Amino acid sequence: MSGIRPTGFLHLGNYFGAVQNYVRMQDEYECYFMVADLHSLTTHPDTHLLKQHAIRVLCEYIACGLDPEKVALYCQSHVPETAELYLFLNMLAYVGELEKTPTFKEKVRAQPDNVNAGLLTYPVLQAADILLHRAALVPVGKDQEQHLEMARNYVNRFTHRYGPVFPEPRAFNFGEELVKVPSLDGSGKMSKSENQLATIYLNDDDELIRTKIRKARTDSGSGAAGSGAGGAGDPGASKPESVANLFLLMKLVSPASTLQKFEADYQAGTIRYGDLKKELGEDMVKFIAPIRERAVGIRADEAYVRRVMEQGAAKARSSAKVTLQEAKEAMGLNYYA
Ligand code: AMP
Repeated sequence: MSGIRPTGFLHLGNYFGAVQNYVRMQDEYECYFMVADLHSLTTHPDTHLLKQHAIRVLCEYIACGLDPEKVALYCQSHVPETAELYLFLNMLAYVGELEKTPTFKEKVRAQPDNVNAGLLTYPVLQAADILLHRAALVPVGKDQEQHLEMARNYVNRFTHRYGPVFPEPRAFNFGEELVKVPSLDGSGKMSKSENQLATIYLNDDDELIRTKIRKARTDSGSGAAGSGAGGAGDPGASKPESVANLFLLMKLVSPASTLQKFEADYQAGTIRYGDLKKELGEDMVKFIAPIRERAVGIRADEAYVRRVMEQGAAKARSSAKVTLQEAKEAMGLNYYA
């Protein structure tokens, strides 16, 4: 089970941190993937834009390879059972620990005039989404590790107080490690809202992709043996962050042989960053363009999108109802049983 907030366009971080794993999981597991529209209400989105973004995320899921016949693809707000479980879990979540959550502290800094209670209990709502389907594996990026830890705490508290209903969920990635896709300005991660020129969106057109990569920060040197990295004659030096980030992106979208060539140039101190960026730009266009084009085609078929949403919500609700029934029985809320 996993989800993405419809707060803007999906980007390369969402793809490699989350959606790529969703797609790989769909053949092996029973999966629930949703558009986290309730979560996005914490930042009071424009009503009209919310609708557009929610539909867009759903279409981009399908464009990335999710099959609505195999997985439940739905909008969070179409599964009202989420709110009921959220309420139960709120009784097991402590204000002190919620206030210490780094993502909450970040939001308080970013929007001091809108520190609403939904923001504080954001991780509880997330736990409700996951536990509603008793999901064990949650494909997310590295930035979500702490929230998963909190969900496990709620499971343990619930089990201790009422008995075993929920498994402990954990973050999941098919690779060795959770992924963090860095931004192109050499600091932080790609994101829906911050520094849009430093983030590659699945919706970007070819020219924009090339421009963003061309403008990405690099280094003034010519590799490990040049002046930029660890200084002249220092082939073992680690790469400056901005350069390492470009190599990471290349690893994600380019053929292995391309990566090897530029790695060798870097080590020899003969690398030309202009060439690297040109190659990376072309490989990025090849990667993004088919997804973008498929998403446009899917969005044009409104009846299909609506059918997918309704079918996904029906699947998710039937799983949610069974879980809620068991949770309520465990909590002693089944008065006529
Ligand atoms: P959000 O965009 O915050 O709703 O996040 C949706 C999913 O994308 C979560 O699983 C995040 O962990 C993942 N994600 C967002 N940004 C990145 C990034 N730059 N690198 C890796 N994963 C990311």
